[in-house]
Formats: sequence, structure tokens, C-alpha cells
Amino acid sequence: MKIRTRLIILFTVTTAIILGLFATVIYLSAKENRQIEFYNLLKKEAITKANIFLNANVDKKILQDIYHNNRKILNEVEVAIYNTHFDLLYHDAVDLDFVKETKPMIDEIYQKGEIEFYQEGWQVIGLQYIYEGKKYIVTAAAYDQYGYSKLNNLLHNSILVFIISILFILVAGIFFSKKAFEPVRAMIAKAKNISATNLDLRLSNNGNKDELSELANTFNEMLNRLESSFDAQKNFVSNISHELRTPLAAIITELELSSNKERTPSEYQTAIKDALNDSKKLVRLSNSLLDLAKASYDPTEIAFKPIRVDEVLLDARQQVQKTNSDFKIDIHFEDEIDNDDQISVNGNEYLLKVAFTNLFENGCKFSTPHRCTVSVRFDSKNITLLFVDKGIGISEHDLLQIFTPFYRGENRTYTYGHGIGLPLTQKIVALHKGEITVASQENKGTTFTIILPHC
Ligand code: ADP
Repeated sequence: MKIRTRLIILFTVTTAIILGLFATVIYLSAKENRQIEFYNLLKKEAITKANIFLNANVDKKILQDIYHNNRKILNEVEVAIYNTHFDLLYHDAVDLDFVKETKPMIDEIYQKGEIEFYQEGWQVIGLQYIYEGKKYIVTAAAYDQYGYSKLNNLLHNSILVFIISILFILVAGIFFSKKAFEPVRAMIAKAKNISATNLDLRLSNNGNKDELSELANTFNEMLNRLESSFDAQKNFVSNISHELRTPLAAIITELELSSNKERTPSEYQTAIKDALNDSKKLVRLSNSLLDLAKASYDPTEIAFKPIRVDEVLLDARQQVQKTNSDFKIDIHFEDEIDNDDQISVNGNEYLLKVAFTNLFENGCKFSTPHRCTVSVRFDSKNITLLFVDKGIGISEHDLLQIFTPFYRGENRTYTYGHGIGLPLTQKIVALHKGEITVASQENKGTTFTIILPHC
């Protein structure tokens, strides 16, 4: 069921319940009031007639005539007067005798002083009346036609007003909900048109600061992120295929050339060496891509534990120097290490080693002689690592881009590379809740600063 329909039903039912309760309370209290008022009226009539009969000594016949005459136009109260021995002293209409008093009834009135009850819709009251020290029992009965018709009117009017109000509320609910949901419907129509081929479409914002424009803004922001990650994905795939194609094409050319005609053993050796070098580049590239994929995992899927950063630095240095024996890497500790905690972070050893290896490699490969220094300092919160080289530096324009995947700076002709190392390093540092910044001057050198929190 649509939210709009649900809201209309909910709104109408709630209002119907409230109105219904309201009308019921009013009707019941009117009913109660009518009953109380009519018993009071009966009581007054009973006492007045007993007074007239006993006190003013008015003739029975006159009183009965008055009763019979009034009865034709009014719902006259039928009064009967007994003494306590159940002797009838006066009756308005013995011929009608609606109440038909009995001895037990008279006794009950005598005991209780007063009783009230209904008989076939008539209200009856029985009470004691004392005149000159003697006790009399007076009964009075009548049908409250006026009161009942007023009550019926109230009931009919209430039902009518109830039905009209509910209909009105239903129509108003349909109208207002339609108006309120119009922007949502417009959003749905627009959102239906957004697909992978036209991710540039955006939802329109009504300009108000309401929840709907907030939703449109949030949705648009999500589309912005999706669009850029979609573009990045597209670039990523085309960059990878380009990076893979170059060494593969070189290997194929080398092998084709050497298989074209008979070659000397030294020519074969050169061709094999070249092919081997290109294959190694391919392996390095695929390893970097694999690491990039790992670093892009959900952090909850990566194992973190307390590790000593100095040990990871030493491992990374060893690894870099194993493949590049001419690279010189100095590790310099600015503070004295008293305990493990000072130099430890909660991290993933493998990924941190990849990050440090990249920075060592870059520092060395972009400088002559291939040398790089890392300075380590720490405080109670963070460990700070400065990877410094005195190499060719990075241009100001490139500084803004070097963390973009596959981006290689203007200085790329200086040495080999694929443009994956820095974005990978940045991802790894972010996974460790750290920060990486760079400062560089062309032909003077570059410093990468990594700040890693202890935990
Ligand atoms: P790669 O080194 O494979 O080209 P990176 O992602 O590691 O890729 O680096 C991206 C770019 O940043 C490099 O191509 C280079 O232009 C620049 N760069 C990174 N580190 C240094 C450095 N220490 N000195 C000079 N340029 C650097």
C-alpha cells in the first residue's frame, strides 16, 4: 500500500475515532442528564400533588379532571397516594393505573424512603411524604417524550455531523496528501531516468529547507560520488590495460624479432634478458594492483594488531635493497625508545610495509645518488615519519595530482613506474587513521610526512 493511501486511512480513522468518542461522551452525558432531570421533575410533581391533595384539601374529582385534561396535550405525571397500609387515598387515573403498585413495592418505598425505576420506557418514582406526622407513600410516573425527542435529535445530528466531517476529512486528506507528495512523485519520475549512461542527471531541489530538499541534496551528493567513482573505475580499467599492454607488447616484439631469423647466442641472451625485465615489471605491476585491492577492502576485513613501526621500517628497507642493491636508506630515530608502546601502532604489518617500501623506492629512484632518509619521532598520541630525499622534486602542479591512481608526474621520464605507489600508500595510511602530506621543491628534494596514531 502506498504511503499516501496509508496516511489518508490513518488520518481519517484517527479523526473518526476522536470524533466518535467525543460524540458518544456528549450523547451519554445528555442521556444521563435527561434521566436525572426527569426523576427530579417527577419528584416535584409527586410532592406538589400530595401537597394539594393533603394540605389544600382539593377535591379528588377536580384533580383527576385536571389530569385527564392535561393528558390530552401533555405527558402528564400520573400520581397515586397511599397510606403505609397500602390503602389507596388518591389516584390520578384508576382506569389507566399504569404503575400498578403492589404491597411489596409500597413496603420497599417505606423501607428505603425513595425508589426509582423504569417501566416500559416510563420513568417511575416512589417516595415517602410526611404530612402532620403521618407517613404517606406517593408514586409518580410519566413518559419523557420531550426529553427523548431532544435526545433522538441530538443522536441524529451527531451521526450526520460525524459522517459529513469524516467525508470532509477524507477529501481534505486526499487533496493535501496529493499536494504534499507531488514533489516526491516528481523525484521518482526523475530518478527513474537516471542510469549508468546518464549519471550526470540530478534531482531538482525545491529551494525550501525542508526534508524533501534535504533528501534531493543527499541523493544528488550520492550521485556525485557515484559518478566520480564510476569515472574513476572506467579510467582505472583503461589505465590498467594500458599499463599491461606496454610491457606485453615489448615482450612480444622482442620474442618476434629473435624468432624471425637465426641469431647469435649473445643476441638471444639480450632478448631473453629484456623479456625477463619486462615480465618482472608485469609482476611488480600486478602485485601493486593486488595490494591496492587489499587496501580498498572494508577495514573490518583487514587484520589489525599492535605492531612496532621501527621493525616494519627495517623490513621494508631490507626488501627494497634486495631488489635495488644501489639504493641507500637511512633510518634515524629522533627520540629514545623506552618501551614498545611508544613506537607501536594498531596496524596491518603487510600493508604498512607496502606503504613504507613505496616511499623508500620513490625517494631513492627519483634521486641521484639513490638515497633516502626516514626520521622517526613520537609522542603520546602519534608516531611521525618523515621520508626525505634530495632528489629531483615534484612540480607544484604535480603535487596536487600525485595521489591520483595511475598519475605520473612531469618527472616520470626520469625513472620507471606505474603511478600506483602513492595512491596505494595514501589508502593504507587512511586505513590506519593516519595522514600523509607532501612538501617538495624541484631539484632540491621531497619530504613525505606520515602521522600514525598509536591506536
Ligand atoms: P610511480 O613512482 O610508479 O610513478 P607513484 O604513485 O609512486 O608512482 O608516484 C606518482 C608520481 O609522484 C611519480 O610519477 C612522480 O612524478 C611523483 N613522485 C613520487 N615520489 C616522488 C619523489 N620522492 N620525488 C619526486 N617525484 C616523486
